[in-house]
Amino acid sequence: MSESESWLERKCVERGLRLTEQRRVIARVLSSSDDHPDAEELYARASRIDPKISLATVYRTVRLFSEAGIIETHDFRDGRARYESADNEHHDHLIDVQSGEVIEFVDDEIEALQHRIAEKLGYELVDHRLELYGRKKV
Ligand SMILES: [Zn+2]
Repeated sequence: MSESESWLERKCVERGLRLTEQRRVIARVLSSSDDHPDAEELYARASRIDPKISLATVYRTVRLFSEAGIIETHDFRDGRARYESADNEHHDHLIDVQSGEVIEFVDDEIEALQHRIAEKLGYELVDHRLELYGRKKV
C-alpha cells in the first residue's frame, strides 16, 4: 500500500474527522479497493495491515465515513451492506444473481434518459442510483 495520503484520508481531514491510525488503515484499504467489499471483507483486508483492528471498529468507521458522505453504501440484495469510496467515477451496477458478481457500467443513453425523465417531472436531476439484476445467458 502506498505511503502517500489516500483520497479518503484527505476527505477525512477536510471534513474535520479525527484520523486515528486504525481509521487511516480502513480509509486506505477502501481507497485502494476497486470492488465493493462488505464489512467482513474490509476487516480481513485491514487486519492484514493492522492485526489489532476489530470488526466493531470497521463497522463504526464505515458508518462514520458514510455519514460524512465520503463513501457510498450499497445494498445488492444479498443481506450485506457493501462499501465503495465516493471518489470513484459515476457508474451503475449490474448484479449477477447467480454468482453475486457486481459489474460496473456507464451508459450515456441511460444517463440522458434519466435527465429527461426528471425534467419532464419538473426536476433537475442531482443524483441517481441504478442497479440491474441479471442472470448470465448461456
Ligand atoms: Zn461500484
